[in-house]
Amino acid sequence: MTVRAPLKPFHEALADLLAQARPLAGTDTVSTFDADGRVLAQAAISPLQVPQQDNSAMDGYALRCADIAAAGAAPPFTLPVSQRIAAGESGQPLAPGTAARIFTGAPVPPGADAVVMQEDCEALDDGRRVRINTLPSPGQAIRRAGEDIALGAQVLAAGTRLSPAGLGLAASIGLGALQVTRRPRVALFSTGDELVMPGEVAPGQMPPGAVYNSNRFFLRAMLLRLGCEVTDLGIVPDRLDATVAALRQAAQGHDLILTSGGVSVGEEDHVKPAVQSLGSLDLWQIAIKPGKPFAYGRIGGAHFMGLPGNPVSSLITFALLVRPFLLRLQGVVDVAPKAIAASAGFDWPRVDKRREFLRARHGADGRLELFTNQGSGVLTSVAWGDGLVDNPAGQTIARGDQVRFLPFADLLS
Ligand code: AMP
Ligand code: MG
Repeated sequence: MTVRAPLKPFHEALADLLAQARPLAGTDTVSTFDADGRVLAQAAISPLQVPQQDNSAMDGYALRCADIAAAGAAPPFTLPVSQRIAAGESGQPLAPGTAARIFTGAPVPPGADAVVMQEDCEALDDGRRVRINTLPSPGQAIRRAGEDIALGAQVLAAGTRLSPAGLGLAASIGLGALQVTRRPRVALFSTGDELVMPGEVAPGQMPPGAVYNSNRFFLRAMLLRLGCEVTDLGIVPDRLDATVAALRQAAQGHDLILTSGGVSVGEEDHVKPAVQSLGSLDLWQIAIKPGKPFAYGRIGGAHFMGLPGNPVSSLITFALLVRPFLLRLQGVVDVAPKAIAASAGFDWPRVDKRREFLRARHGADGRLELFTNQGSGVLTSVAWGDGLVDNPAGQTIARGDQVRFLPFADLLS
């Protein structure tokens, strides 16, 4: 009789991994232009208020509402135009009883308290006077100084993973360079004698039993998106000596060694003994589907993670376990993937004792639809889907149920 170790709950596996993820020492100073995807090592504190001064939100006329009351009981009102202020210029204090021609972004002159958009105005006498066709109210169409960012405000916290919006925000407070955490150095290889490379072996030339190496492509791409420097060691044959040699090389100068395949318990699975001969290894059977086998270990100064070979298992364990680990190495605090509530547009009547991550996407009615084949080798499901339904162990789903949904937009970025 085989005695099976109990499956490890997912949250426990993640917590154990994150406990090992000490943030990497060292920072880089990079141009704000080049900082997309990097993680801030220091909070960004604003040395100024944004906008710097009250400015016009429209092309139009700046005026003082009190003057309007004096000009008549109801629109239209006519005022002389005393100055013209374009973006980048600074006007003079507004002469009482006059309007200033003003353009979007230009500072509102002292004394003015409203801007009327030009669509509600008519220029008279070649622009020397203006007819205002609405009744303005104080503050209208003025962007207030500091309404976006106050002087001294923290606009981005340390540990923020920078996005295009974050770069713009940093630039808006004058930061031309940013201090970011070091990129993790990751060595990647695939195991499997059946694997061949697209571009090297034509589909018509595939030997019997051969499989194209797909994991290498998405793992490499996901690592790069996560800001890693990748050393791609290619395909390693299913032999203990070859696996040991590859691991020994990978342990040099890398923070993480990431492999796919060979972590099951078959005779052709050499990853476990190879890692054990060089360092330490835990082989986990995680209570998730797909993706049960997963290995964590250490070789010298490098972390080791062994993903299952089945492509969907490989991709999902990367997204759920390796991604948060790599973010944490870079100093990101909140590494949990974004989860949203969604309504199921399908039935899932079979219970499983493992927590399931089902490939799904939003249909036209806003409800989730499921990819028909949820097999762990069916990569089409991931390309088709826009996220995963996170279904707790032992639970069925009926049409109309609220489910927890993890969008790929976050999980695979
Ligand atoms: P393994 O985990 O090595 O037992 O592999 C499980 C399954 O995944 C087998 O069907 C392999 O052929 C397949 N597989 C393993 N590695 C890859 C890979 N890099 N690309 C595509 N399929 C793979
Ligand atoms: Mg294999």
